[in-house]
Amino acid sequence: MTSPAVLILLGPPGAGKGTQARMLEERFGLIQLSTGDLLRAAVAAGTPAGMAAKSVMESGGLVSDDIVLAILKDRLGEPDVTAGVILDGFPRTAGQAEALDDLLAGAGQKVNVAISLEVDDEAMIDRVAGRYTCAACGEGYHDTNKRPQRDGTCDKCGGTAFKRRADDNADTARARLEAYHAQTAPLIAHYRSHGVLETIDAMGSIADIAAALDPIVTRAVQ
Ligand SMILES: [Zn+2]
Repeated sequence: MTSPAVLILLGPPGAGKGTQARMLEERFGLIQLSTGDLLRAAVAAGTPAGMAAKSVMESGGLVSDDIVLAILKDRLGEPDVTAGVILDGFPRTAGQAEALDDLLAGAGQKVNVAISLEVDDEAMIDRVAGRYTCAACGEGYHDTNKRPQRDGTCDKCGGTAFKRRADDNADTARARLEAYHAQTAPLIAHYRSHGVLETIDAMGSIADIAAALDPIVTRAVQ
């Protein structure tokens, strides 16, 4: 039995990471494993690591890296992940990345590739900050990229009321990006130093990003 490929997808809010992960699941038979889903499933299954996580969570504590790694190890041994996995939300720190490397090495595996979806921060802030939707039908618009054909009237339904999410503003978008970079920089350095980092321009369309990901993931799952 070949061991599953392990992929890590890194990308800031708004880069379309979730969409790309779903497309990779369909295209390559990969399974995305988010930390939250892993924990919930292990608790529900009542595995030893799941029970350990449950008692920590019930006491309001944070589940330790050791427990998360034990749960991940169990999960990687299940039969549905033979094509490979995309890790989501773990590792978050360089220390966790080291621990993950050790865990995988113990099973003759490794992180095959860490893919960073790179964005132009200022363009991303403009993109997020300009978003609004029709209050009636939910059609999405943008101050500069996609205005209704008639100002103030929804193209789809003719509605004249629009709404903006309170957190779709430049300050919030900038803060989210800064937090992302601060959190991710050590991970990017870790995977670069291990020679498995790939970067992709994530400012293009969903199809453009998918096309750029394709050859990288093809190599990783071989
Ligand atoms: Zn509408």
